[in-house]
Amino acid sequence: MTPIVIISSFICELFSVFIRVGGITLYPFIILRPEYNNKTTINHEKIHIEQQKELLVVFFYILYVYYWLKGKVAGLSSEAAYMSIPFEKEAYDNHHNMKYLDKRKKNDWKNYIN
Ligand SMILES: [Zn+2]
Repeated sequence: MTPIVIISSFICELFSVFIRVGGITLYPFIILRPEYNNKTTINHEKIHIEQQKELLVVFFYILYVYYWLKGKVAGLSSEAAYMSIPFEKEAYDNHHNMKYLDKRKKNDWKNYIN
């Protein structure tokens, strides 16, 4: 399944509550600000597409918020809490590797849980 890429600053702005969102994945859509429409960001969001498929979408969002709140409760800034989310750690670690998704194993995001 190929994700559907939508370029919309407006939608990204709606999700920019705690941090400025450059791109967001809402399975099966990848929504990007025009300035984030590049291979690396699309690869990053495609990693989130795989994570969302593994967690039937809804559990991805529940866990995403859980890990973010866990970081906040631990005293992290909004930005640092975001970077502590295992889904983001996997995506940031691998988004420059355009072949990552070819070799990625199911649930590899779990390797990024502290
Ligand atoms: Zn991300």
